[in-house]
Amino acid sequence: QGAIRFKDVHFSYDPARPILRGISFEVPAGKTVAVVGPSGAGKSTLSRLLYRFYDIQSGAITVDGQDIRHVTQKSLRSAIGMVPQDTVLFNDTVAYNIRYGRPSAGDAEVKMAAEIAQIAHFIELLPEGFETKVGERGLKLSGGEKQRVAIARTILKAPPILILDEATSALDTTTEREIQAALDVVSKNRTTLVIAHRLSTVIGADEIIVLKSGEIAERGTHAALLEKN
Ligand code: ADP
Ligand code: ADP
Repeated sequence: QGAIRFKDVHFSYDPARPILRGISFEVPAGKTVAVVGPSGAGKSTLSRLLYRFYDIQSGAITVDGQDIRHVTQKSLRSAIGMVPQDTVLFNDTVAYNIRYGRPSAGDAEVKMAAEIAQIAHFIELLPEGFETKVGERGLKLSGGEKQRVAIARTILKAPPILILDEATSALDTTTEREIQAALDVVSKNRTTLVIAHRLSTVIGADEIIVLKSGEIAERGTHAALLEKN
């Protein structure tokens, strides 16, 4: 479920300046493909196209063989869980933020998702527990805590496809390692597109694609790429 295919994808924000120049690759169902490369290479643009923030100008992106332009945005997005670099939480309770992944979830499910994301203990120590207000006008969570809430939300939503767009880039090394471990659990057996700027953070990926100036410069396993570079 959730195989993703980019077929000769071209995209530019401004016609005079092509950003993606003929990108083709596949994320087989249940596998993880990482896109790495220098800043400005077009990595985040790839993930935004898959989420249909923008439409491509030529080529095609398919999910399970279906052109995403022929899928409603709502059903496409319900199949995708996105963990961005800096999660912005709603000015509401922790429970609301986690349940946003699946509003019908009961308290026990919310708590279990928080446990898998390893934030349940921290939340339960707060005087108001899962009913604690967070965000600008509530409790200020650290970067790592916000990522854990985003992970719990994704666990509850249980989408077949996951996009991790620099999900650990803004964190310090120790927190990065912890969040990476939580993400490994969530991405297991899910079709996952990882966007990262360093090869060292995507060791577990089934394939790594090196993007440079909007083109695929290299691709292979982590070990093969390390040998070449
Ligand atoms: P990466 O994720 O590899 O750093 P991005 O996909 O964010 O690269 O950006 C690729 C290029 O597209 C950059 O030169 C960036 O400045 C440009 N770009 C990104 N978003 C926009 C936008 N909304 N409008 C115009 N240009 C953009
Ligand atoms: P980081 O440096 O990792 O971003 P912060 O400095 O934001 O972390 O927060 C450190 C710890 O203090 C976190 O556990 C966070 O939840 C807690 N914290 C931050 N702001 C507040 C606040 N206004 N009230 C209570 N706890 C807070």
